[in-house]
Amino acid sequence: MTRKLAAGNWKMNGTAADLDRIARLAAAHPEPACEVLICPPATLVSRAAEQAAGTPVKIGGQDCHPETSGAHTGDHSAVMLADAGATAVILGHSERRADHGETNLTVQRKAEAVLAADLTAIVCIGETLDQREAGRTLDIVEEQLFGSLPEAATAENTVVAYEPVWAIGTGKVPTNDQIAEVHSHIRTRLGDHYGAAAGTGIRLLYGGSVKPGNAGEIFAIDNVDGALVGGASLRVEDFSPIISALDGKA
Ligand code: PEP
Repeated sequence: MTRKLAAGNWKMNGTAADLDRIARLAAAHPEPACEVLICPPATLVSRAAEQAAGTPVKIGGQDCHPETSGAHTGDHSAVMLADAGATAVILGHSERRADHGETNLTVQRKAEAVLAADLTAIVCIGETLDQREAGRTLDIVEEQLFGSLPEAATAENTVVAYEPVWAIGTGKVPTNDQIAEVHSHIRTRLGDHYGAAAGTGIRLLYGGSVKPGNAGEIFAIDNVDGALVGGASLRVEDFSPIISALDGKA
């Protein structure tokens, strides 16, 4: 069975002074049953990977360019992230889709680059509040899923993060039934498209206002294989109990 995954997305937060969080997290979880991943800003990936060396904590990026190198000022490639010590890259986060106009096709090209660099692609999908209220959640999620995932997706190289846009950073969380419905739909459609092994093996994370107080309940939902955590990953005191809750399920 694939290991559960607790992934922290620091977003545009953190300087070198914050890197001690990684050592403290590793000390609190020397042998976690789940995988633990921290995705700091790109400026910290290399130093974070040095901090995490020899511990179970892995380091990831938050985005990458679809190409390997070239005239793209301000961007970095998947190969560069791998070189800096990353093992995974978050792609298609709703903040990037909104702030940078990323389309499903852009995300898919980035995901292909991530797989080509032998990294794990964590592909984010999720509906807006308007789309949910219009009853379009499953259609939107499915459109993003097949538009954003690479054709070469497998259980080993790809993770899907279901993140309702309206739940990110808002303190609002879908009901357990709503999470269960979307995760079950994604699982079924992955199996239809990529075959049984990928369908059952690709990990499905829930993301959106996961906190120590709701993590256990969320991890008990069928087809939830972990979480992508934003705000609560910035404090060891908050992220650590989330890891423990996931270890309880693993
Ligand atoms: C995220 O950034 O992916 C996220 C889920 O943020 P938060 O946990 O703060 O809602």
